[in-house]
Amino acid sequence: MRMPEPDPSILARKARIVARLATALPKDAVISDPAELRAYECDALTAYRCPPLAVTLPGSTEEVAAVARICFEEGVPVVPRGSGTSLAGGALPTADCVVIGVARLNRVLEIDYEDRIIRVQTGRTNLSVSAAVEEEGFFYAPDPSSQLACAIAGNIGMNSGGAHCLKYGVTTNNLLGVTLVLMDGTVVELGGAHLDAAGYDLLGVVCGSEGQLGIATEATLRILRKPEGARPVLMGFGSNEVAGACVSDIIRAGVLPVAIEFMDRPCIRACEDFAQAGYPDVEALLIVEVEGSEAEIAEQLSKIIEIARRHAPEVIRESGSAEESALIWKGRKSAFGAMGQIADYICLDGTIPVSELPFVLRRIGELTADYGLGVANVFHAGDGNMHPLILYDANKPGDLDKAEHLGADILRLCVEVGGCLTGEHGVGVEKRDLMTVQFGPADLEAQLWVKDVFDPRWLLNPAKVFPLATSESRRAA
Ligand SMILES: Cc1cc2nc3c(=O)[nH]c(=O)nc-3n(C[C@H](O)[C@H](O)[C@H](O)COP(=O)(O)OP(=O)(O)OC[C@H]3O[C@@H](n4cnc5c(N)ncnc54)[C@H](O)[C@@H]3O)c2cc1C
Repeated sequence: MRMPEPDPSILARKARIVARLATALPKDAVISDPAELRAYECDALTAYRCPPLAVTLPGSTEEVAAVARICFEEGVPVVPRGSGTSLAGGALPTADCVVIGVARLNRVLEIDYEDRIIRVQTGRTNLSVSAAVEEEGFFYAPDPSSQLACAIAGNIGMNSGGAHCLKYGVTTNNLLGVTLVLMDGTVVELGGAHLDAAGYDLLGVVCGSEGQLGIATEATLRILRKPEGARPVLMGFGSNEVAGACVSDIIRAGVLPVAIEFMDRPCIRACEDFAQAGYPDVEALLIVEVEGSEAEIAEQLSKIIEIARRHAPEVIRESGSAEESALIWKGRKSAFGAMGQIADYICLDGTIPVSELPFVLRRIGELTADYGLGVANVFHAGDGNMHPLILYDANKPGDLDKAEHLGADILRLCVEVGGCLTGEHGVGVEKRDLMTVQFGPADLEAQLWVKDVFDPRWLLNPAKVFPLATSESRRAA
């Protein structure tokens, strides 16, 4: 994949730009040493790397605004960065850009249990938001598997989801307000501390806009009361397709578990080796979790198990304790890391109608065999958000290319069956050139207008989301 060439005139101005940034921030908040910049040259899509011109680590909204203003005046692109765990290359720098990292913006600003909100700076990690309200029996629902590391900033950027989003929705459903720094340094407040706000829903536009419209520095989030109890059940099947059909039946029956997660044999093995979660030795495994009072749990589980029995499960095992439940989730949430220990992979992220799961799982197997590559499946099955991991050998010339072509075919398949190119990881650089598969010219143009309004000079997070040729010509115009 081709990244834009560094702009020599911008590189020539580097010393002056860094000097200007240093006047706006504390000394240790501007990084320009080439060795130190290497730490920011990629995100979790590590196949693509490019050190930026400089990295800034502001400590307040005012400092973020000051950096944005300097970059605007100098015509320097800006890449907003949370924790750099994007799997789509969303936080990948360009050589001529200044990264604005929000890692130092990590404070809790306000907690209001009566109104069930928490206001945080966006560099705060996802898991530490729940930790801040845990003692009072509350939690923040969106739970990406990367939640120990990823920041609310990136969750907003990517409209991230997680295992428990089947019931609670993704980031946009739990985000009430944002403080946003625009590219010219203007600070605006979007949304508020309530479920709906007057005027256009600009918060909805910004959530999931992949750092293309502004830099979020503070966020008001909805917190929920923890359920009385929760219990996962493991259900093992003889094939991916049968497990897929079971998911489809559970959803069709109108039962709403809090999570339905899917793993195929390669993933089950990797996670079991990694976490000793007690997973059974089966072709396909579902982790279905329900929550509520003991009576509610028992009632929902009996319905779900009755549906599963129609699909000849090889194993059905309810968790017997809180410790066992924690282990079951530890295994699932370690899946990407566990697979990374045994293979190079590209993690796809497409969403399909749940009823298409059996067909799509079969087609993924067939397509993978045609390409002579391997695949492992682990995903949020309840909402049809698939994550095929395409396995390849980074040391084998041509293998990455082959994996990318297979990935594109699988994502086209998702669109063909009525789904979409991304469920939660975003478009980034990974899928920018596939946007035309999903959107017609007029649909895409409408999105480009939004970008034009927020960032008329196309300086924010360049070369992402839209086909490369489109963003380059828009920026040059
Ligand atoms: C092991 C692993 C498991 C994962 N599991 C999940 C999962 O279950 N669900 C899921 O949704 N994702 C998952 N991800 C992907 C990733 O963690 C999410 O996309 C996450 O929200 C990124 O957060 P981050 O802070 O690391 O953002 P970054 O990677 O730093 O940035 C992500 C995007 O947000 C933009 N951005 C960053 N900061 C700001 C800001 N202040 N204002 C505006 N835009 C900004 C960036 O420009 C970029 O486009 C996983 C990743 C890994 C490595």
